Amino acid sequence: MSKIKIAELFYSIQGEGKYMGVPSIFLRTFGCNFSCKGFGMPRGELSTEADDIATVVHHFTNYNELPLVSTGCDSYASWHPDFKDLSPMLTSDAIADRIMEILPHKTWKDEHLVITGGEPLLGWQRAYPDLLRHDSMQDLKEITFETNGTQKISNDFRTFLFNWKKYGHLDREITFSVSPKLPCSGESWEDAIQPSVVCEYEWFGTTYLKFVVATEQDIADAECAVGAYRAAGFTGHVYLMPVGGVENVYNLNAKNVALAAMTRGWRYSDRLQLPLFSNAWGT
Ligand code: SF4
Repeated sequence: MSKIKIAELFYSIQGEGKYMGVPSIFLRTFGCNFSCKGFGMPRGELSTEADDIATVVHHFTNYNELPLVSTGCDSYASWHPDFKDLSPMLTSDAIADRIMEILPHKTWKDEHLVITGGEPLLGWQRAYPDLLRHDSMQDLKEITFETNGTQKISNDFRTFLFNWKKYGHLDREITFSVSPKLPCSGESWEDAIQPSVVCEYEWFGTTYLKFVVATEQDIADAECAVGAYRAAGFTGHVYLMPVGGVENVYNLNAKNVALAAMTRGWRYSDRLQLPLFSNAWGT
């Protein structure tokens, strides 16, 4: 039976993108190909917040005890190797059982499943078919993969995705919420902007781009990236979302980001987990 290393598994309201406001199960896998230490930092500088917390990792027994950060990746413990012991390796049976426990009606109603990370399309692609074929998952109709848009879909997983829609409920929906990392993340353009990979996601489901921005330079970078995706044939929607894992940073730029999206005919994505739950772990 397949196993997945799970950073977090919780029930909340989706705060971002197309499914904003929808009650959702979040399955946060462990591991990422990036570290995004540039968020919230002056250009060229990298945050040390996650590394600083890692020096006292022995003080924490679970995710809910971990501090929030105002710079760098706000889900740092889902990929930073020093936090790996907080993330158990669970079988698909154990994950499906836990999902049934935390769903309010102990079965799928209108909830949707968000597979997030870390980067959920790393090696765990091989384990998702086992989980999604589980008896408890048969009434699930909508899945979103929240990805950084750098990982190709494997041949086996591609076959599974086609069949999941074809042989399940006719109204089953797969969505790829792609958050490409702009230079403000600290990652390089060459590694982060992969138009041909993202265009392939459009074969399997609704795919949109969601750029996390704070400054005029970030928005100019997003425009440049959108040009590259469009040139490769990408047809989906574009969202701008304000940077900010903590409220004071988010409040500073949310309105400007909304105005920038309107000017360009793009969509604005809020981060509802901030005003609703202060972006705490498990929300
Ligand atoms: S890609 Fe996402 S999860 Fe990975 S380091 Fe960047 S922000 Fe964090």
